[in-house]
Amino acid sequence: MGRPELVPGLEGIKAIYFDLDDTLCAYWDAAKTGLRKAFGDHPDLTVPMDLMLKEWAIAFSEFVETIGKTHWYEKYLKSGDLTRAELMRRTLERVGIFDEDLALDLSNRYHVERHAALDLFPESIEVLEKLRGFWPVGVITNGPADIQQMEIEKLNLRPYFDHVFIEGEMGFGKPDERVFALARKAVGCEPGEILMVGNSYKHDVVPALENGWKTVWVRRPSDVPPSSRTGRPEEKPATGPEPTLIIKDLAEIFA
Ligand SMILES: [Mg+2]
Repeated sequence: MGRPELVPGLEGIKAIYFDLDDTLCAYWDAAKTGLRKAFGDHPDLTVPMDLMLKEWAIAFSEFVETIGKTHWYEKYLKSGDLTRAELMRRTLERVGIFDEDLALDLSNRYHVERHAALDLFPESIEVLEKLRGFWPVGVITNGPADIQQMEIEKLNLRPYFDHVFIEGEMGFGKPDERVFALARKAVGCEPGEILMVGNSYKHDVVPALENGWKTVWVRRPSDVPPSSRTGRPEEKPATGPEPTLIIKDLAEIFA
């Protein structure tokens, strides 16, 4: 197989970085499955599933907003365990249950079921195979070190990445410009020769554009977090910068 051609607008690209969750794999779908199994199958939990899901979503949104400014961030970088359990504890508190053991058990069940349900999008491997050997390819992913490494292992993605940048290992994550500086240094290209492919406008597209990279925004109709208030995928603010390309399927980067 020869070098595939990228679509117009992506000429001159010499290195490609992908985001992981909801770009290469369906993380939010796995999270929804994990939550339903954790709440639905637990013998000691008498709270209706819909209420648990709703309160978890509220607790999640609150926690995410402040985590970077608290002592939880350092714990979160190393491992997803403590913050996941804390989030479950806060969820239970919201429904009037104060039970540390139950929180820990729900957290473990959620983790196991979410991991089991995690899967790649149908086209991901084919796209990575086509790029392999022709472009240096890397991943830039936010999240705890242990969880992100587990995902890469489980999905057998390791052989496809020349460079791996994980928030938990760096101590900072997207949209921090230090991430993009490190990733650029690793491939030794000019900013305009690097492509960022990601599903998050805020964390992938905007910071990559601000660093002079080209960007592909992956907007899948299913990309809706369990904590979403709108039930719809992320919208671009009216005045926000335009990505180089918007796609629904990773294979759309090829001409
Ligand atoms: Mg993502």
